[in-house]
Amino acid sequence: MANTIQTLPQEVVHLITAGEVIDSFAAVVRELVENSLDAGATRIVVYLYPEQWRIRVADNGCGMNYEDLQYAASAHSTSKIHSGADLWKIHSLGFRGEALHSLTMLADLEIMSRPTNCYIGTDINNCGFRVTYSNGGEIQEIAATAMAPGTVVTVSNLFGYCKARRQGLPNTSQQLKAVQETIHQIALCHPQVTWQVWHNDRLWINTSPAATMGKLLPQILNRVRQGDLHELTLELASYACRDNIYLVIGLPDRCHRHRPDWVRLAVNNRMVKAAELEQTVLSAFHRTLPRDRFPVCLLHLSISPEHINWNRNPTKSEIYLNNLHYWQEQINQAIEQALRINSDTLNETVQTSRVSKLITTAEKQNTYRTRRSIQPTPKTDTEAPDTVNSLPETLKTQHSELSTQHSFKVVAQINNMYIVVEHPGGVWLVEQHIAHERVLYEQICDDWQLVAMEPPLILYQLSTANVEQLQRIGLEIEPFGENMQAVRTIPAMLKAREDCHQAILELSQGGDLKAAQVAVACRSAIRNGTNLTIEEMQTLIEQWQRTRNPRTCPHGRPISLSLLETSLSKYFKRHWVIGKSHGI
Ligand code: ADP
Ligand code: MG
Repeated sequence: MANTIQTLPQEVVHLITAGEVIDSFAAVVRELVENSLDAGATRIVVYLYPEQWRIRVADNGCGMNYEDLQYAASAHSTSKIHSGADLWKIHSLGFRGEALHSLTMLADLEIMSRPTNCYIGTDINNCGFRVTYSNGGEIQEIAATAMAPGTVVTVSNLFGYCKARRQGLPNTSQQLKAVQETIHQIALCHPQVTWQVWHNDRLWINTSPAATMGKLLPQILNRVRQGDLHELTLELASYACRDNIYLVIGLPDRCHRHRPDWVRLAVNNRMVKAAELEQTVLSAFHRTLPRDRFPVCLLHLSISPEHINWNRNPTKSEIYLNNLHYWQEQINQAIEQALRINSDTLNETVQTSRVSKLITTAEKQNTYRTRRSIQPTPKTDTEAPDTVNSLPETLKTQHSELSTQHSFKVVAQINNMYIVVEHPGGVWLVEQHIAHERVLYEQICDDWQLVAMEPPLILYQLSTANVEQLQRIGLEIEPFGENMQAVRTIPAMLKAREDCHQAILELSQGGDLKAAQVAVACRSAIRNGTNLTIEEMQTLIEQWQRTRNPRTCPHGRPISLSLLETSLSKYFKRHWVIGKSHGI
């Protein structure tokens, strides 16, 4: 495939936001690597020599022929667009025809290139050439060279013609960090490419090709494993036929971060900044993560090019997106779908090593056992006030439809605390209090009911702030004599509770409506230590399965531990051939 580089007409040049884009090592790497990707490369190797101000990028892309090499570094010369109308059909990463030209103004540029698949033309079109360009993009020297198809671009003496720019640069390690970040971002958007980055002849970054962004992520993000992630693609037939949202999330019970540094958005294979959409992601994870923790969430929007204007910013890192509201809604839906537990996520893996560690620890302490409830558990002093009898009515009804559909079967309760659930892929251990807390929290959010309290609840010595706080969350409260207040409406769930008094006092301490809802759910949920019947547990598990965020409680604690059959069979070495293991 020949590139056919042409100089853009003047009127198109004016349409493009030109700018000072090459201001660092990372910017050079970005421009060269993007050229390699536009050339269809599947293997890209970057060599960095920061102390020598030298960078080299080698690829196995389509290469350039003799003719193309003449124009590659001329001003506004590109093979990617030819007219103004093409600006609305951009499928490539580059299109301005500026990068190589700018590099000739800032550094010494050498290109070695040999085209692939050149079916027509003379020998000159099939052979490789080494070209050096003068300051301004003219060819200085050109000679045939023996090389494999592809391109090797070498930039040396970087900023040598613009020394002021060297002075403004941060130190080498910061520059390298920026390069690493650039490579990671680009690699995630092109996971099928093999990447190698060498720093002063030492291999520094190395990734193997992966089918998707999510499959590549564990190679890039330390301590994140495949089983911690969930991927999903949502086709958007209603909007434009080829559009879709791809999303990979860190499961909230398995990974989150102390900064929102892994909430990322890519549009048509390029990472972009879009504060509004990042905010949408953060809100979608609300009340699924511990306090001050942030999700891992990578989104990739594939959008028809006519809906994007890449000219907001010279580095193309910000874009104008038509119909932002529509995208926010779609993102919300996609995250909601990804957070649910369904037949796709049922078999997600917990790393075998983790399961082994867990079981080993449990064995050492010798405290795990499955107890059959042959006899009712004797009540202990430490048992919480809730008993089977005071369980919410909803837990007593049985919903067997979902369980038969998904074959979730409650088989036992352990230590009056954990529910053991069997499903076709393995076993879940569910902590009963937090599972119930999640169920109640979502019920309360959907239907925050305040009911009349007759006679009113009398509270003593509330401060003005306490009273205002209760009013803020909707409770009716009025003075009732000296230092006394009468609470006339309270959250429905608290009404029948003996500890209603303490609960309202707790709510008067502060927090917004959401925090109050969490507190009510937490207080109303069955306590650990409560003995449950199989039917009650089955109902709870089914209700929990239907919640929008079944993985964590509203405080962000994990609800279930999944032991997969595949991990268990590995742990128990069930793949051993019997004869062999008996030494026969
Ligand atoms: P742009 O990428 O915006 O077109 P550049 O100045 O980066 O502008 O590159 C100019 C042209 O050189 C490209 O349009 C492309 O045809 C060619 N080119 C640059 N790098 C490569 C490469 N690695 N492989 C093949 N062709 C390349
Ligand atoms: Mg380019």
